Amino acid sequence: MSSREVVLGIDVGGTTVKGGVVGTDGSTVASGSLASPSAGGAALLASVRDLVADLEAEARAHGCTPVGAGVIVPGIVDESTGRVVYAANLSWEDLDLATELGSSTGLPVAVGHDVRGASLAERRVGGARGLADFVLVTLGTGISCAITTDGTTRVGASGAAGEIGHTTVYPGGETCSCGKRGCLEVYASAGGIARRYRAAGGEPGSSAATVSGRVGSEELAARIWQDATDALALALATLVLLVDPALVLLGGGLSRAGDALVVPTLARLGEELSWRAPPPMRVSPLGAGAGRIGAAILAMDALGKGDLVDRWQTGRTG
Ligand SMILES: [Zn+2]
Repeated sequence: MSSREVVLGIDVGGTTVKGGVVGTDGSTVASGSLASPSAGGAALLASVRDLVADLEAEARAHGCTPVGAGVIVPGIVDESTGRVVYAANLSWEDLDLATELGSSTGLPVAVGHDVRGASLAERRVGGARGLADFVLVTLGTGISCAITTDGTTRVGASGAAGEIGHTTVYPGGETCSCGKRGCLEVYASAGGIARRYRAAGGEPGSSAATVSGRVGSEELAARIWQDATDALALALATLVLLVDPALVLLGGGLSRAGDALVVPTLARLGEELSWRAPPPMRVSPLGAGAGRIGAAILAMDALGKGDLVDRWQTGRTG
């Protein structure tokens, strides 16, 4: 009797590498994560190799046979060749990731972009199932988005589409890590919210979750949070006017705030759009697991098993 076939889905981030062993029926057999070495580069590649080896061993311990892997990374990725062209947060440049990981595992490795990977998961098995036009905005340490129009998630001429975090919402505003002023990310990313709250006299060590949790009970938290949802609505208004999505999905760590995020953002978006109704806005049902699931789907598609993905049942995993 042949053992059960599984694929590995790996989500490489600047702070964490997350991975999962996913059956071809969509069931999660095992999962794991490790902290990304802050230096990135070769140390990070070694960590990814370690996690892949651990997950392979775990799969075999469960009587499963790994048949492929998908890896998603932030930055500019050439999905057709499996090369990472440039990933600033990982200190990876011109890295043939598919070959590097393929040679150590013996598995075929598909490489993709992190937010587009999460968007793929939402479209195939998540909150945007069956939609040809939608946007996924991921709100975490930074802010990025995946724009899907006519069933295609846009890559852009240089592979850099979707950098909504660096669109200007307040000209001449606060300085962004990119060197510009007034970027969306300064006001509405988890890092930006926490930094602005602390700088305005909020409790040292507070996170964005602290701020969202105090909105109803503290004036400063309410002000910083409203700055965030206003900034997000301003950026989304431009996006909605340009591409007319059927749905705005919010993902990333900040989306755990749920209605505290969606309700004020949607209300301000409605005001900004004035002459047209805003599209529905929802929190991603896949949560932080969307990337890992998307990476597994990339592996399934590369193996010619993509039709099986349509039957997957998935739930929010983070
Ligand atoms: Zn910026």
